[in-house]
Amino acid sequence: MKAIDLIQKAQAEHNLTASEIMTILVDDCCNDYLFQAADEVRSQYVGEGVHLRALIELSNVCSKDCYYCGLRCSNNNLERYRLSPDEVMAAVVEAKSEGYQTIVLQSGEADNFATAEMVKIITAIKAMGLAITLSLGEKTYGQYKAYKDAGADRYLLRIETTNEAIYRELHPGMDFHNRVKCLEALRTLGYEVGTGCLVGLPQQTLADLAQDILFFKEINADMVGLGPFISNPDTPLREQPSGQFLLSIKVMAVVRLLLPDINIPATTAMESLHQDGRKIALQAGANVIMPNVTTINYRQKYLLYPGKIGLQVSTKQNRQKVVEIINSINRFVAENQGFRGNK
Ligand code: SAH
Ligand code: SF4
Repeated sequence: MKAIDLIQKAQAEHNLTASEIMTILVDDCCNDYLFQAADEVRSQYVGEGVHLRALIELSNVCSKDCYYCGLRCSNNNLERYRLSPDEVMAAVVEAKSEGYQTIVLQSGEADNFATAEMVKIITAIKAMGLAITLSLGEKTYGQYKAYKDAGADRYLLRIETTNEAIYRELHPGMDFHNRVKCLEALRTLGYEVGTGCLVGLPQQTLADLAQDILFFKEINADMVGLGPFISNPDTPLREQPSGQFLLSIKVMAVVRLLLPDINIPATTAMESLHQDGRKIALQAGANVIMPNVTTINYRQKYLLYPGKIGLQVSTKQNRQKVVEIINSINRFVAENQGFRGNK
């Protein structure tokens, strides 16, 4: 079948084989048609509301050494920080006053907060009536359970790539299978599970991306966040070209066709490579934006990759900008907490 027929089939049946996905990804003739199909599926299944999640970057301290990431422990060009629990709560209070209903707590993967400390923070945020998404990397089952028992609702842990050889190469000392096990543990514990991948990693092929998409489907991910790999001069991948914006939008659109009712963010990395990146993503399947509410002086140190947007913008301005984007395409900010299936 030709790409256009496959897009129609996916829109109707929400299923494709790996080779069918590759036919769509390789062929740029029908991109507008693909984006429109993903936009229609998004509208039908999750509606016109865009969910805003306030992102707090708790700490840039990381014990891992992922080759693409500026937070990697071997990067000595980065001043490290860790928010105090009071600073976290101040950012939460500001986010709530701006109207956010979900707080995302993200950090490098390290023992930035003792489990009891994290539990206290989660409990305090839940007491404010907010939903919580965590993105703290690989933890033990016991830690995931303690966070869940304290009230955490969702967890984001990208698989990054399902090509195990590339995974091994880019993640020294880490184990692909442990990452899959973490995703399984999160599911067992009743979290809404988010995963995702990087698009345009060195050596990564379209076949790999097709497998990534099928992996999201196989584990029935509740959220999928993906974006282009952005080359960072402070990492071993400094000489490698960044991934392509267009290809990451295409992968995202196919994810929407295959997983019609999930939450899909228009990611910061997309906007960092293209000035209208999030607007384009919202019109090609995305229904979530995660504006940064971290205090500006810390935000500038959470440098996963260069050119990250919004480093100088206040929490208020950041939200205004996002609301403008949403309104400019006749969408609106959703009024519920945006669990999977919430319209
Ligand atoms: N430490 C946690 C969360 C913080 S990193 C974790 O790794 O899960 C959050 C995401 O940033 C990662 O999942 C990765 O996909 C993305 N990221 C890191 N470096 C990047 C780069 N150079 N370009 C694009 N995305 C990057
Ligand atoms: Fe650490 Fe996450 Fe960056 Fe890997 S991607 S180095 S775990 S912050």
